[in-house]
Amino acid sequence: MQDFPLRVMRLVDHAEREHASGEIVSAWADGSVTRTNWGNVARDARRMAQALEALGIKPGDRVATLAMNHDRHLTAWYGACGMGGVLHTINPRLFDDQLEFIANHAEDRVLLYDRAFTPIIERMKSKWTTIEHYVCFDPQPGEDGFPEWIAPHDGDYQWFEGDERDPCGLCYTSGTTGNPKGVLYEHRSTMLHTLVEASPDIFDLSKRAVVLPIVPMFHANAWGVPWAAPMVGCKLVLSADYRPDTMCRLFQQERVTHSAGVPTIWLTMIEHIEESGEGFPDLKQVTIGGSAAPRAMIRWFLQRGIEVCHAWGMTEMSPIGTCGSRPLDWDDFSVEQKVEYIARQGRPPFGVELRTVDDEGNVLPRDGETSGRLQCRGPWVVRRYFKAEEDAVDADQWFDTGDVAALHPDGTVQITDRSKDVIKSGGEWISSIDLENAAVGCAGIAEAAAIGIPHPKWDERPLLVCVKTPGSDVCAVKVRDHLSGQVAKWWLPDAIEFVDELPHTATGKLSKKTLREQFRDYRFA
Ligand code: ADP
Repeated sequence: MQDFPLRVMRLVDHAEREHASGEIVSAWADGSVTRTNWGNVARDARRMAQALEALGIKPGDRVATLAMNHDRHLTAWYGACGMGGVLHTINPRLFDDQLEFIANHAEDRVLLYDRAFTPIIERMKSKWTTIEHYVCFDPQPGEDGFPEWIAPHDGDYQWFEGDERDPCGLCYTSGTTGNPKGVLYEHRSTMLHTLVEASPDIFDLSKRAVVLPIVPMFHANAWGVPWAAPMVGCKLVLSADYRPDTMCRLFQQERVTHSAGVPTIWLTMIEHIEESGEGFPDLKQVTIGGSAAPRAMIRWFLQRGIEVCHAWGMTEMSPIGTCGSRPLDWDDFSVEQKVEYIARQGRPPFGVELRTVDDEGNVLPRDGETSGRLQCRGPWVVRRYFKAEEDAVDADQWFDTGDVAALHPDGTVQITDRSKDVIKSGGEWISSIDLENAAVGCAGIAEAAAIGIPHPKWDERPLLVCVKTPGSDVCAVKVRDHLSGQVAKWWLPDAIEFVDELPHTATGKLSKKTLREQFRDYRFA
């Protein structure tokens, strides 16, 4: 057989050849909507590769972006990789000290950014020691930016050819403890991940799909959608604006069939739809991941005829670890059986191996009951963090995910918690995810977070912190009554508090760390 290095530029070459007119829609922060296609993206990526070379950027150098989702950002991904560069997507929602650390640690040489993030650039410029060139994706009228930067170049350019094990991307995890850690993706790992991602049991992408990822391109590569789209030739809809009314309009106007996002995003979308009466007329499949999808949310979609794919993964896994593939007798399941099934995090696709171990490292049975530390390995799982001295895996390549899970005999995975979030009560574990999931099933509760509070007798006991839906008069007694039917008695929270808002991380997940800090001095009455 022929040698065909698995490099990501083959994706855009394929798209240019096979579906050059395939549409890419961008909804910009200022409300405008623009359209382009794969032919244009491929051409402009070549021009950008030339522009980078003209700046003296060399293969292996890091080219960073600080941007939301739009076609210029997409072009920049392929332009950076096309000249052999390493694309470093920076999360603009990080704190300044994290922003300072990651750009310097990555030794970024160029930064492409959205005008909306100019204040960040102004604040950080003096602290970023390696960035030599700044290019604005969407400059003010009359100013120069990305279009003007690539304009002098003719696009007559051959992609840099190298080894398929060369790096192509860099993404830092938000780092709940210590400094953020960089995960360096390779061309090969990205290509293998992409091939699996489009398959029916995962994102189910095809030429007939219209995909709108509501995951930023800096959050684990928008879960790989910008790599998979050119492979299958689906229509790609990118939005820099996540307000639910804008999103709803896009769902309707562009006839979106597939979408993906974290539960918090879907929560705001659902609230908006319930209030406005708008809907998702063409949506066939929604992927929910990044944190556990609550049952109430899964049911909401299923009742509207929308398939739910519950995905688990992490930056270290490119990010797909598991997805909600269906069993053979799926059509015979009742809605409630489907909800129960989907509430687990699905099954690993080919390419991901999973096991659970106890604290001594003994492999645990896949009996659906015993939970332990979840470990994984595979061709798109990290081996060593960027610039780290040691591998992040053991001698057999197992990577410890930091999650606690039970593996079921049918291959499904049930994430019970993050190891640092699990509530340890009287030597037993209470799953904060299960408590939260049960709580948001209570009428009037929009969002809930369970954390462990020190307890003299039990070590820790659960505190449930809730946000009410607008106008609701739900009270602690009602929530407790609701929970009583759902979880073991000894799991019931010792207290239920209400707040206006729960803290979220830079990727839109509940920030238990911040919440624990907020409730540091809390004691049960
Ligand atoms: P971080 O949130 O730390 O920046 P990631 O975005 O890579 O980094 O998050 C990975 C973590 O998110 C997983 O280890 C797991 O704890 C959590 N997670 C992801 N998907 C799910 C899911 N479907 N259910 C429960 N937890 C999830």
